[in-house]
Amino acid sequence: MTESPDQPAMFRPRYAEIATFMRTALVSDPAALDIALAGVPYDGGTSNRPGARHGPREIRNSSSLMRAYHHVTRVNPYALCRVGDVPSERIYDIEAALDEIQAFFAPLHAAGVVPISAGGDHTVTLPIFRAIAAERPLGMVHIDAHTDTWDEFQGSKFHHGSPFRRAVEEGLLDPRRTVQIGIRGAQNTPEGWDYSLSSGMRVIFMEEFTALGVEAVIAEARRVVGAGATYISFDVDGLDPVYAPGTGTPEVGGITTIEAQRLLRGLGGLDLYGADVVEVSPPFDPSGNTALVGATMMYELLCLVAESVARRKGG
Ligand code: MN
Ligand code: MN
Repeated sequence: MTESPDQPAMFRPRYAEIATFMRTALVSDPAALDIALAGVPYDGGTSNRPGARHGPREIRNSSSLMRAYHHVTRVNPYALCRVGDVPSERIYDIEAALDEIQAFFAPLHAAGVVPISAGGDHTVTLPIFRAIAAERPLGMVHIDAHTDTWDEFQGSKFHHGSPFRRAVEEGLLDPRRTVQIGIRGAQNTPEGWDYSLSSGMRVIFMEEFTALGVEAVIAEARRVVGAGATYISFDVDGLDPVYAPGTGTPEVGGITTIEAQRLLRGLGGLDLYGADVVEVSPPFDPSGNTALVGATMMYELLCLVAESVARRKGG
């Protein structure tokens, strides 16, 4: 194994160096990248326990434990694509904050760079979609305890329970090419679940996930999104809080870490235009395990996206 000239820190002690995502170089010129790892430290759309604004920093720290070669697929994403960490910052008035997030991702998209981001609460996926899906709606594999297709909450259309309803309304997300996996937990009204189902999304509640098993869920997810342009959004609360307690809206009875890894590895070959890991909330994560899980899922997503980008480049 030789040192990659683009990623010298990968072969230095993992506790040394500046804590970028996966020890990649910090890059400010999008032209230098195929895939941008980006933090979106915004949690102004949280409906209950806050703290996901601290997610990117802790995921960056834990991601120093990630290495190059995937042990199952033998993919080395850094050999397939130019990968770097890009800086960002934003806060306050939610609609202005969403505009700022969109304005951050739009030039990356214009430069042909595929984003893999760490939230932040799930609200941040909406402005990312606004930046990358304007030319055609995306399909989506969405792992979450919640459908995030609710409408107004406390007088706001924009919060972490509504991004995918807004994305459908804005023509950014194709509900017929959307699969939601791991849904569970009581709600005060069923309107979000009903919106997902009536709009044509395939909703795999946790009970069906358990009954089908991971392989059948993979087959169903692949059937739903098909060969078109697709996004993967991974809300860490889709996992059981045994594995990921540090999150704003934990729901017991969820997906295990190995099930999630198998599920993501089963999505190889999809035509991917972005991915995210959201809702890691370090203030509720005293062991740090949720940040490690988030970083690990981000690495799984990086391997998938790198293969997809390399295929499009003809590599
Ligand atoms: Mn969510
Ligand atoms: Mn959730």
